[in-house]
Amino acid sequence: MKTVVFAAWAGVGKTKLAEKYPGVVIDFESSKYKWGCEPSESNKGRTDRVLNPDFPSNYLTAIRSAIGTVPFICVAYFGVLQELSDMKDVVSYVVVPHVDDKDLYVQRYKDRGNQPSFYANVDEFWSHVEEANKSAGVGTIVLPRGGTLEEYLLSDANRTGAVLPKTMPKTTIFFDSDDVLMESTEPAIARYNELYGGSLCLEDFKAWGMDSCVPEGTTIEHFYEEPGFYRGFQPIPGMVDLVTRLKDQGHKLYVATSCTVNTIKDKVESLEEHYPFKWDDNEIIPISDKFVLSGDIFIDDKVTNVVHSKCTHKILVDRPWNQGEYPGVLRAKGVQELGRIIQECIAKGVSV
Ligand SMILES: [Mg+2]
Repeated sequence: MKTVVFAAWAGVGKTKLAEKYPGVVIDFESSKYKWGCEPSESNKGRTDRVLNPDFPSNYLTAIRSAIGTVPFICVAYFGVLQELSDMKDVVSYVVVPHVDDKDLYVQRYKDRGNQPSFYANVDEFWSHVEEANKSAGVGTIVLPRGGTLEEYLLSDANRTGAVLPKTMPKTTIFFDSDDVLMESTEPAIARYNELYGGSLCLEDFKAWGMDSCVPEGTTIEHFYEEPGFYRGFQPIPGMVDLVTRLKDQGHKLYVATSCTVNTIKDKVESLEEHYPFKWDDNEIIPISDKFVLSGDIFIDDKVTNVVHSKCTHKILVDRPWNQGEYPGVLRAKGVQELGRIIQECIAKGVSV
């Protein structure tokens, strides 16, 4: 397979393109290789990062190993393309914004949460865009004003020799609600400490079964049966953005959550209040025996649910009560890592 490699300017839409077309586009964001940190927008421009001595050879090795496996690869704008020039089956392009889009790009950097130092020297760097606009040849793609790389590849102007698929397979993803989508243990701890004058915190709950973690003669689990208790829950910070992004990518999302007749209404209303889209009736599944669910990705904080899941990819959301090694299970520490793992699972393939 021929691979089209884009050395594309920051902000042309590389990350979103790769997320939307898993298995078709890989975005080799360099932060992981250069700085050893998560490739998040808020890490870009951070001045406290330590350069990885293996960079750029580690970056080039990863890129080289992916060539021939997917139609499109996006790489850093500077210093990469010439290093790949000896490879067969590579068609490469430099991709730059329209020269008049400087303010638009600065706004994109701000909107996506880049550090101010990332765009502080944009005037200096923009000279590369000006030069590329002026000297645009066969190996340079100048995007139209306001355009993204995806829009270019879907347009008649696309002259790369490869095309994006019109439709992508959808990934089926099951999310647990309690302590995955919604912060559910902290509200009970707060009620418990208030009622018993205690000072419990999340780290005190090192086993499944909350009542086994509180002093004898007291109980914490009964709070969950109180009418309206679930209505006070808040989403785990960052989860609304992550779920919305996956929805926007067209994946099929379900909430699989253990409920009682007393709690199901409150749970559904709480999810609908905090997640900015209408869940269809059959997308919120009240279920305890989650092992009967079959799909691509299963995400939960309860070990037995994850270990026994029939789904292709099993992700355990890291919590004090689920520490341990579980073969075949991926562990996500924090929402950012969860998002990355989900995207990696999507890229590995889906069942539909
Ligand atoms: Mg849970």
